[in-house]
Amino acid sequence: MELLKQRIINDSKVLPGNILKVDSFLNHQIDVELLNKIGEEFKKRFEGEKVTKILTVEASGIAIACITAQYFKVPVVFAKKYTSTNLDDDIYCAEVYSFTRNTLYNIRVSKNYINKDDKVLIIDDFLANGMAAEGLINIVRQAGAEAVGIGIVVEKGFQRGRKVVRNTGVRLESLAIIKSMDENEIVFEER
Ligand code: 5GP
Repeated sequence: MELLKQRIINDSKVLPGNILKVDSFLNHQIDVELLNKIGEEFKKRFEGEKVTKILTVEASGIAIACITAQYFKVPVVFAKKYTSTNLDDDIYCAEVYSFTRNTLYNIRVSKNYINKDDKVLIIDDFLANGMAAEGLINIVRQAGAEAVGIGIVVEKGFQRGRKVVRNTGVRLESLAIIKSMDENEIVFEER
């Protein structure tokens, strides 16, 4: 997606530890017009797939998932990283290792919101080592539902996420795939 790649080149920053900071348009301040185009592109990429629900993980996936859901006309469910009084014990839970924070955490989804008849499209902002994606697929499968695909805004192609997702057998669509990056240059894979 050219518009997205241009935006990454113009407005992102490469931080130590292979972190791409996209706070000015995706992770803190949000460019809604760009998100609209992202949602439209996901709809195009997954055209023909039956989708009944979009699943993401809080916090940064929520905005992307919601705009994308407007194109699919389905509800969004977001996995919670923290326990809360809103969430009872009847949950699906998966353990995820956080790339950005270097810690293990649990993601949780109430059993009320995914069931065995659902065809779930998973959406997230980044694919790094694939741990969040794997955790979300795990939750879909615990529910007996089908993961019809994973839509990622930015894939860091030099990390192992694609391989992890391939091993699950779930179709992956990434809108921008970074081949390499450092403070001076970001190079995309052409696909
Ligand atoms: P993974 O689970 O694939 O290792 O990492 C994906 C998750 O970590 C995403 O949900 C995203 O929030 C976060 N993440 C991974 N790499 C980056 C990055 O380079 N920049 C930002 N902003 N978030 C990242």
